[in-house]
Amino acid sequence: MKRSRVLPLLVGGVFCVAVETDYLLYGQEPLTNQSVFQDLSRLQLKIDRLEHLLTENNRLVATLRNSLLQHKASWETRGRGGSNSSADPFVLDELNLFFFVVQLLDVYDLLPFDNPDGGAWKQGFEIRYQGNEWNEQPLEVFVVPHSHNDPGWLKTFDLYYEDQTRHILNNMVLKLSDDSRRKMIWAEVSYFSKWWNDIDEQKRALVKRLLEAGQLELVTGGWVMADEANSHYFALLDQLIEGHQWIQRHLGVKPSSGWAIDPFGHSPSMTYLLKGAGLQNMVIQRVHYAIKKHFARQQTLEFLWRQNWDSSSRSDITCHMMPFYSYDVPHTCGPNPSVCCQFDFHRLPGGRVFCPWRISPQPITKENVEERALLLLDQYRQKSRLFRTSVLLVPLGDDFRFVDSSEWDAQFSNYQKLFDYFEQHLELHVKARFGTLADYFAAQQRQLRSTGANLPTVSGDFFTYADRDDHYWSGYYTSRPFYKRLDRTLEATLRATEILFSLTLAEMRRFRGDGRLVDDFPAKEHFGRLTVGRRSLGLFQHHDAVTGTARDPVVIDYGTRLFHSILNLRQVMQSSAHWLLLLDKNRYHHDDSKPFLLMDDVIAAHDALPQKMPLRLSDEPRSLIVFNPTEQRRSSVVNLVVDSPDARVIEAESGRPMVAQISAVWVEPSRASPETFQLSFITELPPLALIVYHVTRAPTGSTPRARYVFLRGGEAPTVQTKHFSVSRPQGPEANKLRLQSGLVRQVQVQFLWYGTRTRGDKSGAYLFLPGEDGPQLYSSSEPPLVRVTSGPVFSDITSCFRHFKHTVRLYHLDGHAGRSLEISNTVDIRSEVNHELVMRLVTDVSSGNRFYSDLNSFQMQQRRTLSKLPLQANFYPMTSASFLQDDTSRLTLLSAQSQAVASLRTGELEVVLDRRLQQDDNRGLGQGVTDNKLTASLYNLLLEDRKVGGAAVEHLSLLAHLASLSLSHPLINMVAHSAGLLPKLRPFQPVSSSLPCDVHLLNLRTLEDEQEAGSPSQEVALLLHRKGFDCSSAPEPLPQCTWSVFRSLRRSGLTLLRGDDEDLESARQQQQRRIISLRPMEISAFRAELD
Ligand SMILES: [Zn+2]
Repeated sequence: MKRSRVLPLLVGGVFCVAVETDYLLYGQEPLTNQSVFQDLSRLQLKIDRLEHLLTENNRLVATLRNSLLQHKASWETRGRGGSNSSADPFVLDELNLFFFVVQLLDVYDLLPFDNPDGGAWKQGFEIRYQGNEWNEQPLEVFVVPHSHNDPGWLKTFDLYYEDQTRHILNNMVLKLSDDSRRKMIWAEVSYFSKWWNDIDEQKRALVKRLLEAGQLELVTGGWVMADEANSHYFALLDQLIEGHQWIQRHLGVKPSSGWAIDPFGHSPSMTYLLKGAGLQNMVIQRVHYAIKKHFARQQTLEFLWRQNWDSSSRSDITCHMMPFYSYDVPHTCGPNPSVCCQFDFHRLPGGRVFCPWRISPQPITKENVEERALLLLDQYRQKSRLFRTSVLLVPLGDDFRFVDSSEWDAQFSNYQKLFDYFEQHLELHVKARFGTLADYFAAQQRQLRSTGANLPTVSGDFFTYADRDDHYWSGYYTSRPFYKRLDRTLEATLRATEILFSLTLAEMRRFRGDGRLVDDFPAKEHFGRLTVGRRSLGLFQHHDAVTGTARDPVVIDYGTRLFHSILNLRQVMQSSAHWLLLLDKNRYHHDDSKPFLLMDDVIAAHDALPQKMPLRLSDEPRSLIVFNPTEQRRSSVVNLVVDSPDARVIEAESGRPMVAQISAVWVEPSRASPETFQLSFITELPPLALIVYHVTRAPTGSTPRARYVFLRGGEAPTVQTKHFSVSRPQGPEANKLRLQSGLVRQVQVQFLWYGTRTRGDKSGAYLFLPGEDGPQLYSSSEPPLVRVTSGPVFSDITSCFRHFKHTVRLYHLDGHAGRSLEISNTVDIRSEVNHELVMRLVTDVSSGNRFYSDLNSFQMQQRRTLSKLPLQANFYPMTSASFLQDDTSRLTLLSAQSQAVASLRTGELEVVLDRRLQQDDNRGLGQGVTDNKLTASLYNLLLEDRKVGGAAVEHLSLLAHLASLSLSHPLINMVAHSAGLLPKLRPFQPVSSSLPCDVHLLNLRTLEDEQEAGSPSQEVALLLHRKGFDCSSAPEPLPQCTWSVFRSLRRSGLTLLRGDDEDLESARQQQQRRIISLRPMEISAFRAELD
């Protein structure tokens, strides 16, 4: 069990790790010969080339087949006298399924990315039309008024609300009520709900009337318009549930269209959630300009977006990609911004906003209406040529628009005059009006059905976004990494609290037997805290929050919300655990000022890292409670800080002693604290269980202590430590860290700096524009101090450099938990100017130009590093995982926080740790990123054999899923206060067995009571995610995962809307079948009563 496998290593500023792993390939000897690897690399290159040719060939065939089928379909439609049962829909659909899925990866391979000047439409091309194209099927234009309200960016959420948003919404009610032809869409429920609380019943009734009349549409219905790169799917779904639940409760409607015009790139994980929540259509905007142009040429700007892993059309959602540069008025009426700007009547002369193209709008009068209408129609017609139907979507709005009453009048009355003109001139074959997205998509679908036209199917994602030239938005994948990590801390805290709280309420009802809760338990207050926590996490998913692209004071506002939410949720967790653990429930007493349980760490401020509180030990046992928030039985190491170098831990229930280790708490790299010590012990925790341990002071010398070796530039430094043994380094060859026997894979960890450009635009919060000379190897004037720890529970190597501390740790655990290396960094680059720090893994895995990174932790996406793109274009978001592989092995880096990842050369994987940039990058923020903090990052590194390769869709292995689960959901330690006689506690184990290894309990979220606002109901949302996993590597030994039981379930939509519940009959069948019908990769939502 305790293979002591760690030895020190140091090579200049770079440090090497060699990892060995089992290697078996049909009984052959391990391939270690260098020349064999070279041959394999050459072979791989050849295969890549062949595959590329094949892809092009497939596309050609698909295009040919596509046109053939379209001809056939239209011929058959005509042949059957216009009947719309065209051809055989089943056959067409089936063919469609197999032949017409456009893979974005292939599009990237084909495009030259040469960025030629397209004329008026700079990034596009000249659009021609004859004028008779609409004679049979008139042009049908929907002008969709919108106002993009960032929940925090240049101002805080509250300040925007005060200054702009409430005025927009107040005016909306008045101005839409004035004229039933006027329309408006609204996306951000965070704002809408805040405003709702401020308005009276009369206004609320008006809002409901506008919704009913279809004049107002709530689009997407999320708490925010979420970022799609850095957000974890838990948070993406949670903010969607929060928004949808609010909408259903207060407005009684259900969103049907998605609207994401500002997130910096788009992910299919989001589309999966939208589809699961019952949305049919969606609009996206920020897509690489070259992709937009290609899609425009192919008339594929409207498509069915399909999940990579889905071979059916189940996950398809109709997506409209806006063709031009921006979502503002100059870039939405047609290809020419100088013309479109003249139809933004908020920019009429004399106002605060003007047209940068220097041609101002004119108020529409009898005299100019013809000329103006025809000018606008020309833009509409050109834009229409980019789509397959003659229905046209024209958004009308911008950031925080429609604030003043006069702006409403200017836009609505001038447009109405233009619409009226079109109405009176039938010869123009155009019908234009205000519309919502629902209006637009209904008309589009009608026309698709009537003409028998098909939309193409597209798979993949839209990262990395570039809006112009080589300005790739890959900087924000890492900007403000401190808060990206705090986001995930809140996420893990929220999920753990949701689960514990739901289980507590269920247990209480069961305990009382009358369906009621224990009087003293502050269920309503706690539910309020949960709600605030959900909303803080939701707010932070906004595309200027988790992205790190807001102004400094706004970042502090977000940070403070995250921080307070964590503290509040901890209160809920503590009192829930308190009740669950009490043997005699009648002894439960809630006291806010003196909680029975406390966390064993404190977070002092929103910008501070957590600190463990030392546990005072004596001969009397201290109760330590450990919560396993995962649905899996888990071998883990529990770490706490104690005030004695000798401690003993027993599991309270069984009296079983735990294997423990005492290590130093380092005050400085080479100075150990004489008063506090780290106690680590190995334990195995049942799923979702709260286990009680007793910790006592032990006789001197009875607890095994870690041993230390120090190095600095080949010499032993002066080391100050009492209690621990420190030795001199043993020989120069002591520089390898070994796992099990088998094929050796070299893994070297390097640190590098990127600078920014010396000329022109420079890196900022959004953009990564690295210096011309590329990355520079990190070097420091003085050699690092390297500290090697070895002990029975874990061993590690810590390298202390000036800008970072880097630790590689191996836990001596049996089973899969001991199969990965833990890497942790604390980074501090506050002394730097225009520098970005990168950690790079250099391996001998022959990965070619391919690697994989996750999308929102929901799925893996293949990436190809392309030399035709600039370096910054080859960086992608990594929410929680990335891997490299060749025919024999796979190297997976799992992370506990979001950041940028790239594989710039074969075998290499790098992540950007922090960025400090002194200047604005001209995307409106108006500042650099200089509020860096002491920032922590945490990873697991896995090396696995691959026995076969070439799966169509690559997933993480089962082992990687389990490791990632543990990494994202750390154990939660609580301690009982020490004063007085303690009531007896007993462990709490809600489920008798783990869920199957590939099933993840995403959440167990208590729903709000339908009668009593702000109170918890008896219903919970049970969210299960069945993960897709790679079978080419099976963990050894196989993890023990079996089935578990949840009762009284009804399947629902992903946001648990009442209308999405399955009817009772099928729900009963569902229950009989248990919940075994979870499909791989799919998330399933159930409404469950635990009582
Ligand atoms: Zn925005």
